[in-house]
Amino acid sequence: MSTPFDPAAVVAEFIDRVAPYDPQPGTAPVAVVGVRTALGEATFTVGDHVIRAMCRALEAYRDPDDRGTCVECGSRRLDENLHCRECGRLHGILGEVIAHHARRVAAEEAM
Ligand SMILES: [Zn+2]
Repeated sequence: MSTPFDPAAVVAEFIDRVAPYDPQPGTAPVAVVGVRTALGEATFTVGDHVIRAMCRALEAYRDPDDRGTCVECGSRRLDENLHCRECGRLHGILGEVIAHHARRVAAEEAM
């Protein structure tokens, strides 16, 4: 966490933003979401519409460092140059060009 923020306030703000669009307002709550941090504790009782929205938001989230999976070793730790930190394999167009070049050099050396 770089900027300090209150997670419970973020959750409350999310609910405020989504709840007005509940097609069936006033229906029975289906979930309780609790947040406990150093700043305090909050519990939110939410309906079907809000909990579904929360799940969709969570599913849609991708970590800024998530650059996919290494085709070589399956590691998920690719750096900003798409270079695998585990096995060293380079991905993307540059990775393909380098791999192609390395294969050609190896083939020429074999001749
Ligand atoms: Zn790898």
